[in-house]
Amino acid sequence: MSTTYIPAELRRLVMERAARLCEYCLIHEDDTFLGCEVDHVVSEKHGGPTREDSLAYPCMTCNRNKGSDIASLVPGTETPVRLFHPRRDRWHDHFRLDRDGINIVARTEAGEATARILGFNALDCLLERQALVLAGHYPPPAARRLIDVNEPGS
Ligand SMILES: [Zn+2]
Repeated sequence: MSTTYIPAELRRLVMERAARLCEYCLIHEDDTFLGCEVDHVVSEKHGGPTREDSLAYPCMTCNRNKGSDIASLVPGTETPVRLFHPRRDRWHDHFRLDRDGINIVARTEAGEATARILGFNALDCLLERQALVLAGHYPPPAARRLIDVNEPGS
């Protein structure tokens, strides 16, 4: 949650850069009940600055689950693993969709930690994504460049 005022122009830039998709689970904000919001990837309490290159556009579910977390443990390790960073990382390096396009599967330890902390595959998220897949809304077209390594701009 941001405490610093983020100017409207900067908010708009972040929203448009994300194509109005959650930069973590890739849901389009029109397909969420609560929408998405501009927030710090590294929270202000950890020293995250309020700049274009440090802000992301998470859905409320991902953002609420992420909170101020920047790292976690994965099973079998005792060393903290950083979470996925939408500004520095490419989504398809850390995640992929399963064959049904519903489960978000981690490819890396950072992806695994992020998927668990943000609850990507919690039952309510899976059911919501399943309904969106059936309706042809997930993954949204604007997410293709993030999912497919062969898409231009990925
Ligand atoms: Zn999300």
